[in-house]
Amino acid sequence: MNLRIIVLAKQVPDTRNVGKDAMKADGTVNRAALPAIFNPEDLNALEQALRLKDAHPGSTVTLLTMGPGRAAEIIREGLYRGADGGFLLTDRAFAGADTLATSYALAMAIRKIKDYDLIVCGRQAIDGDTAQVGPQVAEKLRLSQITYAEEIINAENGEITVKRRLERGVETVKAKLPIVVTVNGSAADCRPRNAKYIQKYKHAKTVTEKQDADADYTQLFSIRPYLNLQEWSVADVNADVVQCGLSGSPTKVKKIENVVFQAKESKTLTSADANIEDLMKELITNHTIG
Ligand SMILES: Cc1cc2nc3c(=O)[nH]c(=O)nc-3n(C[C@H](O)[C@H](O)[C@H](O)COP(=O)(O)OP(=O)(O)OC[C@H]3O[C@@H](n4cnc5c(N)ncnc54)[C@H](O)[C@@H]3O)c2cc1C
Repeated sequence: MNLRIIVLAKQVPDTRNVGKDAMKADGTVNRAALPAIFNPEDLNALEQALRLKDAHPGSTVTLLTMGPGRAAEIIREGLYRGADGGFLLTDRAFAGADTLATSYALAMAIRKIKDYDLIVCGRQAIDGDTAQVGPQVAEKLRLSQITYAEEIINAENGEITVKRRLERGVETVKAKLPIVVTVNGSAADCRPRNAKYIQKYKHAKTVTEKQDADADYTQLFSIRPYLNLQEWSVADVNADVVQCGLSGSPTKVKKIENVVFQAKESKTLTSADANIEDLMKELITNHTIG
């Protein structure tokens, strides 16, 4: 059975290196100020998709990412690991999107891709941290969803079997395709880039990147069409601009605080009952627990 798999992958600011200029005054992320990385759990999702492709020769893995022009790097990173292609959803009108507007735009792009059996995405992005987009995309496409996947065991005869990691343990579920699956960070790590694929795809570029490039690759792109990375705007995916970006986002980030712990805030406790009791009282009083 050939599977047509779409992987949703987000380029995220490397929140391990958040500096003081990380956020703009309007509460949105200052993406230019932060190194950008492949969202970690989306790499786990990509690996699950590539394993299904290994198990079902003839299957295809397509990346879909929404972001600024430089998010094309996400598609290249996927190609270097064995994906077959990708689409960059990029348009100023998508900027500042909350999860509702993000999932709407992604759903419109998936409708344009049209032919798919499985949509795989990460459980959560390390910047927004909401874990909402995957389930929202499923809702918008009226698809079933399996969340917290640790392993996609197999996909046979129009059905998929998935091992889920939950707080209380693991469970194995079966469901009909097409479906959306969100993958945990406890799933297998993604395979490294493959030198052969890097050689093949290192010049892959979007239209905008070609325009910005100093060298002329026209001839290369005509003899190797797989190097042309597709860029889609609001119009390309027939999206309603009002439902995109800031205008389509009911969530307004009120205030963003940079929480940096100071040494003076830490307290060393002994295991004496009285100490533990005082700690519990303090945590309840300041609503950290309870
Ligand atoms: C500090 C901060 C707080 C925020 N708080 C909220 C909030 O409370 N509510 C809200 O609605 N928005 C919030 N946002 C905005 C939110 O980050 C964006 O809407 C974002 O595009 C999607 O939400 P997320 O990052 O939580 O992704 P998640 O829902 O955690 O992402 C889950 C999965 O969906 C897929 N995915 C997510 N975004 C994309 C993308 N752009 N392209 C391709 N695949 C994608 C990935 O596979 C990802 O692993 C916040 C942003 C920041 C930086």
